[in-house]
Amino acid sequence: MLCPCGSERAYSLCCQAIILAKKSASSPEQLMRSRYSAYATEQFEYIFLTYASASQVEQSIEDIAQWSKQTHWLKLIIHQVSDYQKDLASHNSAQVEFSAFYRHQGQIWQMREKSHFIIEQGLWRYLDGAVSDNQVVQKPKRNDHCFCGSEKKFKHCCAKSL
Ligand SMILES: [Zn+2]
Ligand SMILES: [Zn+2]
Repeated sequence: MLCPCGSERAYSLCCQAIILAKKSASSPEQLMRSRYSAYATEQFEYIFLTYASASQVEQSIEDIAQWSKQTHWLKLIIHQVSDYQKDLASHNSAQVEFSAFYRHQGQIWQMREKSHFIIEQGLWRYLDGAVSDNQVVQKPKRNDHCFCGSEKKFKHCCAKSL
């Protein structure tokens, strides 16, 4: 299976190894992608564990699962990653702006967020995010361009995961 994160690589060679803790995310973008893939494959413990410790106290695995249960994830688009130091030894942070497309109660939604990542004990962690947009997008006809901006026909793109 292709990785849910949209890398067009096999899941086993992309986010799965990170989710199974066989390797750690080497960049904030990679952590972002792996967290999205964990949502898409319902691995809520991983999502909980990759919150920064300050954010972990505000939720539980049950909360994450509850929130995600009615959501069917369709697509992740990374818009921008801020400059950051690649030296994991120094204190550091980064921002990743993305859109996540999902189906909820029969409609297709686009959520755009700027996420804040920090390094804790040498590992990238998700601190928090500011949602700038969360709205229903129009479902295209099968031969029209997909709503996600891929420039593929809808039937060859997100229609496959609906
Ligand atoms: Zn991936
Ligand atoms: Zn699409």
